[in-house]
Parts: sequence; C-alpha cells; structure tokens
Amino acid sequence: MSTPILKVRELEVEYATPNGPAKAVGGVSFDLEQGEFLAIVGESGCGKSTLLFAIAQLLTYPAAMVGGTIGFDGVDLSALSEEELRKYRWRDISVVMQSAMNALNPTLTIGAQLADACRAHTEWSAEKIAERSHEVLTMVSIDHVHLKSYPFQLSGGMRQRAMIAMALLLNPKLVIMDEPTSALDVVAQRSLMSQIQSLRNELGFSVLFVTHDMNVVSHFSDRLAVMYAGQIVEIGKTRKVFDEPLHPYSAGLMDAFPSLVGAPRQLLGIPGNPPSLVAAQPGCHFAARCPLVMEICRVNRPELLEEDSHAVRCHLVNAVQV
Ligand code: SF4
Repeated sequence: MSTPILKVRELEVEYATPNGPAKAVGGVSFDLEQGEFLAIVGESGCGKSTLLFAIAQLLTYPAAMVGGTIGFDGVDLSALSEEELRKYRWRDISVVMQSAMNALNPTLTIGAQLADACRAHTEWSAEKIAERSHEVLTMVSIDHVHLKSYPFQLSGGMRQRAMIAMALLLNPKLVIMDEPTSALDVVAQRSLMSQIQSLRNELGFSVLFVTHDMNVVSHFSDRLAVMYAGQIVEIGKTRKVFDEPLHPYSAGLMDAFPSLVGAPRQLLGIPGNPPSLVAAQPGCHFAARCPLVMEICRVNRPELLEEDSHAVRCHLVNAVQV
C-alpha cells in the first residue's frame, strides 16, 4: 500500500434539531490507502451516510460539519470554497448514490447525461466526449447502443452500472458509494460488486463504500469499519472483523446477518435501540444494549485503541489487550 489518499481526522457532524444539535458523526478518524476498498457498516441512523456526505462535502442544512479535517491528497477539503471543490469533484472524487432512479435525470438519455458531466468538468471536444462515453459504458458491460436509452428503459442493475460509468468518466482517484446495491436483488448485487472489484483492480481507484448489508462487502472490501451512534467502534481487515469481531456490537451485527456460505445458523437480533444523539450520556454509547457491560462503561467513554492494525473502542477488549 502507498501513502493514504484520504486522511479523515476527528470529523464531527451535527444536525440542527428543535431539541438542540444531534451529533450524527462524533470524532471519526481513519486513513484510506490508494487503491484500497474500505466498507463502512452499521444499523440505519448510525451516521455512515452522513460521514460519506461530509467527506464528499455535500452536507446541506440541517447537517453541518462542526469539527475535524478531511485530507485528500494533501489538501483539507473542508477548507476549500465551493469553486475550489468543483475542481476535485468528478475529476478526483466521484460519488455513486443509493438510487440511480433518483440520481439519473429521467428526461435525458444516458448519453446526454454523460455528455453534460463531461462538459461541466472538462474542455473536451464533442468527439472526445462521445469516445469516452462509449468507453465507460463498455467498461461497465453496457452496450453502447444504450447511450440513446432513457433511464426507465434500463433494468435496475443497468441503471446502477450507468451511475458507476458516470462516476468513472474522469478517472477519479476516489469513488464514494452510498449503498449502491440496496435496490438490487442478490444476483444483481453480486454481479455489480464483482464489476466494481475488477474495475478497481484495473484502474486503481480507492473505494469508500457504505452499506447496512454486510454480505454485500464481505468478499470485496479490504477493511471494514463498524459504526455505532456516530463513532467507529471497530476497524480492521474485513476477514478478521467478520471471523473474530472484538467489539460486542460488531459481534451482535455478525450474529444478526445470514451468511451466504456455511451451515444455516440461528439469527439473533441486538435488543434495544441506539441512544439519542442529542445530549448524549457519559460512558460507552453501546452500554444500554451491551451484554458485557461493566460499571466503568457507564461512566467513561472508551477510546478507539489500535493494536496490530486493528482498532476497537471497548473497555473490555482494551483492558484484556494491555
Ligand atoms: Fe460493552 Fe463496555 Fe465495551 Fe461498551 S465499553 S461495548 S458497554 S463492554
């Protein structure tokens, strides 16, 4: 691995609510290496999509970044103006949204939308735009005849592939993906993930991928970050987090998901609900739901401590490790 392409440090995002600010992302830090695939998983509302939007600098009111830095290729994105950010979008960083049906313009053909993006971010000639549009559609295994198709004429899987083609138009270094497979069936999900994997190997871009479905990323991501109540509670190599989750919440998540391989096993839910993010209580955010809670957990907030490239935010785990 080379030097990190992305360095997120102590990132904090709040939502303005009638009851006061809700801390949706509370002090998140991680690195992403060039060419690496980092998956961020957690229950709905844990802050994972908000984190992606903050990194892409796409937050809008009532959400706002209130602390931290987002270092991309040596530049703090959070310190740039909208005009300066435009130079990075598409060219260096692109985003694939959850629903292609909402992200694509239903009144324009795929070819017209690819051309619009090229014209907005490059000085390319009409010939060059046509050539590149043809090329990126072929890259995602869509026949170039569909340059003339409207989004509604494509299947769900093809629409998501068209979104990925748009994201790759200008050969970005980082592709941010917010649940891009959530509207697809299992077979289409698998096929899209394999496609993303082979494109990443071929083109060398890094992937930051948010999902609530861990089966989607289990075979494709290099590292896995588990988020709970706006914080990373465990981060490490995907296989290790899957096979030996150390944080009680990660272990609960693994028990709550059916595996596509191995013998059938009983699925267990995690009782209780995530805590309120407005005026958070002291101690570990997971204390009220944790089967292993100790006295110290209700008083002191655990730090994310790293050992052997694997970091966990838990008093129990970190006490055992030292
Ligand atoms: Fe459970 Fe305590 Fe660890 Fe939190 S710090 S996850 S409450 S054992």
